[in-house]
Amino acid sequence: MYLKSLVLKGFKSFADRSALTLEPGITAVVGPNGSGKSNISDAVLWVLGERNAKNLRGQAMEDVIFAGSSARKASGLAEVELVLDNSDGTLPIDYDEVAVTRRMYRNGESEYLINGTVARRMDVLDILHDSGLGTGTHSIISQGSLDSILQSKPEDRRALIEEAAGVLKHKQRKAKSERKLANMDQHLLRARDVVGEVA
Ligand code: ATP
Repeated sequence: MYLKSLVLKGFKSFADRSALTLEPGITAVVGPNGSGKSNISDAVLWVLGERNAKNLRGQAMEDVIFAGSSARKASGLAEVELVLDNSDGTLPIDYDEVAVTRRMYRNGESEYLINGTVARRMDVLDILHDSGLGTGTHSIISQGSLDSILQSKPEDRRALIEEAAGVLKHKQRKAKSERKLANMDQHLLRARDVVGEVA
């Protein structure tokens, strides 16, 4: 799986439709300060479901919509489309290419699409779940968080390594199953009480 293309429209400084086509391997984005390089990684985070405006370097989610300039009025809509090559079947969806789109209007309405079909945020997260992409993962490391990773406690750093090695998702599943089991134990206890009362 690799990131094949990214299309931004009305997102942060990208007022006009801007399309980036990427190849497998390393891609470097270069440009002067303030030219919008970090806005590109913000777009990747955002389209994959980020809900915290601070992680996108803004105050409110609306800050992702092009705010206008002296030469141009503000946009009413931010839209990002990200296409992943899935010919190796990493993502559990029966398509060689997976296009995820997120749109947000100034009135706060927003929507997601998967390969052109309206979807929920949850559907996007489900598809990405085992891939290492998505919110809360370290597939994108911002300038600020690099320092905090280097200075983090050994157990926090271990969690990062576990995520990269794919261990974390199994730990999360284990914790989820344990919660379900504890829940079932409670149900069983209650059922036994009822049986005891009836008998
Ligand atoms: P540096 O090299 O300094 O880290 P950069 O190339 O990563 O810079 P970004 O931080 O991606 O630059 O872009 C910052 C620019 O994006 C600023 O000029 C800012 O005004 C602009 N910008 C951010 N949000 C919006 C928005 N909603 N509407 C219009 N412009 C925006």
